[in-house]
Amino acid sequence: MFQKPKGTVDILPEETAIWHKIEEVVRECTKNAGFREIRIPTFELSGVYKRGVGDTTDIVQKEMFTLNDREGTEFCLRPEGTAGVVRSVIENGLFNEPMPLKLYYLGPFFRYEKPQAGRSREFYQFGIEMFGAETASADAEVIALGDRVIKKLGLRASLNINSIGCPDCRPKYHDALRDYFKSHENELCGTCKERLEKNPLRILDCKSPICSAIADNAPKTIDHLCDDCNTHFETLKSTLDSLEIEYSINPRIVRGLDYYRKTVFEFISDDIGAQSTVCGGGRYDGLVQQLDGPELCGIGFGMGLTRIVLAMKSKAEKGELELPKNPSPVLYIAPMGDRGVVYAMKTVTALRERGIYAECDVVKRSLKAQMKYADKIGAKYVLVVGDNELDEGKAMLKNMADRDDSRQVELDKVAADTSILSF
Ligand code: ATP
Ligand code: MG
Repeated sequence: MFQKPKGTVDILPEETAIWHKIEEVVRECTKNAGFREIRIPTFELSGVYKRGVGDTTDIVQKEMFTLNDREGTEFCLRPEGTAGVVRSVIENGLFNEPMPLKLYYLGPFFRYEKPQAGRSREFYQFGIEMFGAETASADAEVIALGDRVIKKLGLRASLNINSIGCPDCRPKYHDALRDYFKSHENELCGTCKERLEKNPLRILDCKSPICSAIADNAPKTIDHLCDDCNTHFETLKSTLDSLEIEYSINPRIVRGLDYYRKTVFEFISDDIGAQSTVCGGGRYDGLVQQLDGPELCGIGFGMGLTRIVLAMKSKAEKGELELPKNPSPVLYIAPMGDRGVVYAMKTVTALRERGIYAECDVVKRSLKAQMKYADKIGAKYVLVVGDNELDEGKAMLKNMADRDDSRQVELDKVAADTSILSF
């Protein structure tokens, strides 16, 4: 017997109802805010991520799922969405469209990680990208969309924001950070020792407890911002205030990608354990050029839907949320005899055509077994149809919630007059 690969999950039918709900909320919120869906490949040339995510990130240093084709070209299963979207925007000339260009994506992503709760090798993300708008209002619009999706799903998450500056103010900050971490160099993990010269900002994001404890007292980006970045951050805060979106400033948030600048943010769920960041994003004004495109700023986020599902389940366990369920049939027709089967098939087909979920027996079960089955699948009404009923043109429609409440109905009206199916 085969087993699924390590770090992957089978999302079984009972759970797909939750996913459908999430997708419905995502599609509604993106539509109302003018974001259009983009579908990009699930793998790209490795260079897209090496350059688009950055050499010093965990994603590129440790987590790439690479594959080689027969000519020896190296590809990588997409570990995140932004780099591929940017590649597509450049390749397809979407930068010529009216700005801002607002896109969203939804689908599976892959990272070679140590699997644990909330961290898998294949996971699902919903993400948005907004190009060509450099104001703090654009940042607030992106954050507000994340906030709306989370709230519409009945979840609570704390919004943490930070600004990591720009190429003008970051070098000075990097120096301050490097000086600080140099005084702790011997205690840092191997990866962070390497990061010290190349990109000390990354150390703030290290998951090792020792590096993390050292990082707690590191100099803060927001104390080293240039005037432009400072004004941007202040405007973002006041915009979020006026939108009544609560946030806290968290100097430790730097995000996993190298080309972020100015605004970075994370939504952290109150309902799940250690892997509690359900959404992370930021501004990446240098990225399009980094991937050989024109000068075009951007901001976006990735929302980890696998963690959103965990948060929903955890809230449901506490009785604070009702999980969406797959639908039950409105009508189950239990036929007895061949004529009954013909009637049942014709009627459920007609009802389904009208958008009503109806079922009938197709495995030739006994009447008793059919009633049991109808109950199990949660049918609202049951109609037993045999030769007698067909001769008379009438049958009893049973209300399964109240077995004594049965009504006689005319068989040829069941498919035509749906008001019959509501008492
Ligand atoms: P983390 O710090 O948890 O590793 P990250 O910074 O690597 O997260 P991002 O690259 O910002 O994550 O991805 C956006 C979101 O995707 C995360 O906030 C998280 O919800 C989700 N995510 C990332 N990696 C995984 C994973 N391996 N399994 C499940 N969800 C993930
Ligand atoms: Mg990670």
